[in-house]
Amino acid sequence: MRAMVFDGVGTPLRLADLPRPEPGPEQVLVAVSACGVCRTDLHIVDGELAHPKLPLVPGHEVVGTVAEVGSSVVRLRAGQRVGVPWLGHTCRECRFCRTGRENLCAGARFTGYDIDGGYGAYLVADQRYAFALADGLSDAEAAPLLCAGLIGYRALRKAGDAAKVGLYGFGAAAHIVAQLARFEGREGFAFTRPGDSQAQTFARELGAVWAGDSDTPPPEPLDAAIVFAPVGALVPLALQAVAPGGRVVCAGIHMSDIPGFPYEYLWREREIVSVANLTRQDGEEFLTLALRVPVRTTVAPYALEDANTALNDLRAGRIHGAAVLNCHV
Ligand SMILES: [Zn+2]
Ligand SMILES: [Zn+2]
Repeated sequence: MRAMVFDGVGTPLRLADLPRPEPGPEQVLVAVSACGVCRTDLHIVDGELAHPKLPLVPGHEVVGTVAEVGSSVVRLRAGQRVGVPWLGHTCRECRFCRTGRENLCAGARFTGYDIDGGYGAYLVADQRYAFALADGLSDAEAAPLLCAGLIGYRALRKAGDAAKVGLYGFGAAAHIVAQLARFEGREGFAFTRPGDSQAQTFARELGAVWAGDSDTPPPEPLDAAIVFAPVGALVPLALQAVAPGGRVVCAGIHMSDIPGFPYEYLWREREIVSVANLTRQDGEEFLTLALRVPVRTTVAPYALEDANTALNDLRAGRIHGAAVLNCHV
């Protein structure tokens, strides 16, 4: 099968011909049709996440069709459309797993990081961590739901019942969260790279009530802010944008250092929290909600062998919406 393979930091992904994986008893073989390109993939390729499996097939926003099932598989059947997310395995026994916080399991393994992912024609996935996908969106349009949407959903839930929500970094996740926020009767405030008027227009089209530069204060104090951009300097800015009692949610898996700031920015019960990974319950809740909204995704399509171009375009901020690889050709 064709796949794009990561050999280590400093080398671009390489197009390879790999043996098709065989599903174990609890696994399904998925014929991948589309795989989203997530900022986490960039962090892996750039060496900011330290210990990927090597060589690695990246990709954790996977949509495809079950081609084969292992001997113990009961949840999924051949021919079914499925989504494979970042969370690929947990121990199911630790205190986190037993209390609905499997996203924090120390034994968790992640798709496209510890386990080969979706930048290829096939992958194997544990049936217990894959999601059955309803119709509605095309495979390419559904792919960004599997991480950008899911992590965005978890971040929005961490923002509590905030009515005015700031979104710092208007990429794949924020373009979905803006739609969820509007659906829930919240007001979204989009902060982009200074001067990126295209992204600001895009944010208003998706329901943001205001869009502006990230170094500009919002027109009124916010109840919460979600920082999607991997830029630590945004955290003190977001703290200044939220009202007393407001919360800043850091949604990325990696961020540059947060610079020092006066205690006054945090004072009056403002909070900074982070979001890590996802639980399977997040996935079920979000995919149900996404159908009701209904969430529409804006996709920039790339051929599988152009994965390096997609990563470079994401790094440069040239993508509006989500980059998605067309994997099964
Ligand atoms: Zn566990
Ligand atoms: Zn991701």
